[in-house]
Amino acid sequence: MIISPAGLEIIEKLEKSGFEAYFVGGCVRDVLMGKHPGDIDITTSASPEEVIHIFEKTYPTGINHGTVTVAENGILAEVTTYRCEKGYKDFRHPDGVEFVSDIGEDLCRRDFTVNAIAYNPSKGIVDNFGGQKDVESKVIRCVGEPDSRFAEDALRMVRAVRFAAVLGFEIEQKTLDAIKKNAHLASSISKERIAVEFEKTVLGDFPENAKLWQETGLIKYLAENSKAIDFLTFKKLANLPKIAPLRFAVIMNGGGAAEFLKELRFSNEIIKTTESLIVGIGIETPIEIKRYINKNGIKNAELLVYINSIKYKTELEKIFSEKHPIFIRDLKINGTDIMEMGITGKKTGQILLHLLEKVWENPGMNTKEKLIKLIEEDFAE
Ligand code: ATP
Ligand code: MG
Repeated sequence: MIISPAGLEIIEKLEKSGFEAYFVGGCVRDVLMGKHPGDIDITTSASPEEVIHIFEKTYPTGINHGTVTVAENGILAEVTTYRCEKGYKDFRHPDGVEFVSDIGEDLCRRDFTVNAIAYNPSKGIVDNFGGQKDVESKVIRCVGEPDSRFAEDALRMVRAVRFAAVLGFEIEQKTLDAIKKNAHLASSISKERIAVEFEKTVLGDFPENAKLWQETGLIKYLAENSKAIDFLTFKKLANLPKIAPLRFAVIMNGGGAAEFLKELRFSNEIIKTTESLIVGIGIETPIEIKRYINKNGIKNAELLVYINSIKYKTELEKIFSEKHPIFIRDLKINGTDIMEMGITGKKTGQILLHLLEKVWENPGMNTKEKLIKLIEEDFAE
C-alpha cells in the first residue's frame, strides 16, 4: 500500500532515530478506499520535543495534545505522539493528555474504527477494531462504547455525520442511537468547529447524508438559527460544484441564511456571496439577469448557471456573446454629453439610470443619437 512517499520519509527518519511511527487516520482510510489521501497524519512513539529535534522545519500546531506539524520534502504532516486521553469535564477537552508507549493504546482513543487503522510499510497494518471491514462495508462505528465516547467529546457526533456525507458511509445503529441520546452535548462545541464540520458536510460527495443532523436531533444544538436550513433541498447538492456559498445558497433559500452563517462565524465574504446568490435564484429573463449582474457582479451571475434554469444559461450566454450593455459605463453617452444638453446636478444620474433600463430592454437603443433622442423625449422641461 502506498500512502505518501514524502510521508514515508518522515516515518523512516523517526525510525532511524529509534522511534516507532505509522501512518494513521484519514490518509490510511482514504487509500484503503482507493482514494487519494488528503492530509497526512503520522502517529509516533517520539515525544513532541523529540520530533522537533529530529526535523529541521516544524511548527508546534497542537503541542498541548502532542501534535507537531513537520514540513519535509514539500509536504506538511501532522505528527502526533502516541497518547491516550483521560477525563473530559467539558465534553470537549480532555483534562489531561497522557503520552503512552504503545500504538494499540493510541488507537483506542481515536473516534471511529475507520479512522483507527495504522500502517507502517515494514510492520504492516494495525487494525484492532475491525476498521478495514468497516471501510469495506462503509460503516461509521465508534471505537469503544459510543455513549461514553460522545460524552467525552461531543465533536465526534458532528464528525460522524460529516464522514457520512463525505464518504457516503452509514452510521452503525449503536453509534447512531448514542448520537440521538447525546445530541444535546453538541451545544458545548465552539461555533468555529461546528462551522468547519458544517462546511465539510455540505461540500461532501454525499451531502444528502446531512439529513442525519435532523434525524439525530443534532441540528438544534449546532446553531440557534438552524431553521434557515431546508433539508429537502440537500438532494440537489450532489450535482453542484464544491463551492461553499453556492451550496449554502441552495440549502438556505428560504430566509435566515445571513443570521445562520454569522452565528457560525463564516467570513463576510462568504455571507455576502451566499446572499447575492440567493437573490438570483429563479431569475431568467434578460432584464432580470442584466439588473442582477449590474448589482451583484458577473462572478455571481456565472455561479447561478449551476442553480437556475436552462433558459437562464442561454440568456446569460447571449448577453455575453452579444456584449449587451449592463453597466452605466457601457452606455454610448456619458455625463458630459448630458451636461452639454443643459442638464446638470442630480438629474444626470437619474437620466443615466433611466437610459440603462431602456438599453437593458433593447440593446439596439445604445447609440449616442438614439439616447439623446430618448432624453429629449422623456426629460423635456
Ligand atoms: P480528514 O483529514 O479526511 O478530514 P481525518 O480522519 O484524517 O479526516 P483529522 O481531523 O485529520 O481527521 O484527524 C486525524 C485522526 O485523528 C482521525 O482519523 C482520528 O483518528 C483522530 N481524531 C481526530 N479528531 C478526533 C476526535 N475528536 N476524537 C477522537 N479522535 C480524533
Ligand atoms: Mg486527516
